[in-house]
Amino acid sequence: MLPASVLRLAFFGPPGAGKGTQARLASARFGLRHISTGRILRVAIKEQTAIGRVAQTYIDKGSLVPDEVVRDLAEDAMRKCDFGGFILDGYPRTERQAKWLMDFLGRNDRPMTAVVHFVLSDDEVIARLSRRRINKETGENFHLDYKPPPLQIRHLIIQRRDDRPEAIRRRLGVYEAETQPVAQYFQVAGLIHEIDALGSFETVHERVCSLLGSL
Ligand code: AMP
Repeated sequence: MLPASVLRLAFFGPPGAGKGTQARLASARFGLRHISTGRILRVAIKEQTAIGRVAQTYIDKGSLVPDEVVRDLAEDAMRKCDFGGFILDGYPRTERQAKWLMDFLGRNDRPMTAVVHFVLSDDEVIARLSRRRINKETGENFHLDYKPPPLQIRHLIIQRRDDRPEAIRRRLGVYEAETQPVAQYFQVAGLIHEIDALGSFETVHERVCSLLGSL
């Protein structure tokens, strides 16, 4: 396996495929920085910063936040860890973002190592998202059937507004129209590695570990 400090990874796939959970587990196991643009935006919304106020209307509807806003957040996070040892979770999500990312890292002589594509059917995506809940303090994900939140923290458990049925439908539409072409882009660049995202999070984590171990 390559040393963690030179791993520059993106976890990619439909909403609900488990990217966030897998990025959190893999970054802890391999000592990588977990950069989730969605999480950064949710914190900005909670703190009602200028970026948070802009982002909120897009996120609540299930639309993408404008490229320029998210790009600055991603750039800042990658610079902070000195371009090394990170997993981008939820970035890039458009072809424009993907091209910018490749160009940005190329200019800094720190090319992408791999893009991990989590593959999951639409039916499974809907089943997972509609039963997903999060801890509003820590952002940790739960699933009402497969990973129920412990009783002691029930009062902290909420449903993300963008996990409601209408927003889920919109997010899937956005994913098909705007995000799926990014897989093709990275395929051509020779960076894509597919992972079957069906199964328990432990099983999928083992798949991720063996893939990262083979890089
Ligand atoms: P996530 O937590 O990754 O599911 O992201 C939640 C929401 O944040 C998305 O539905 C978008 O509205 C917004 N978001 C996160 N990352 C991006 C991105 N790379 N480009 C545009 N919007 C984003």
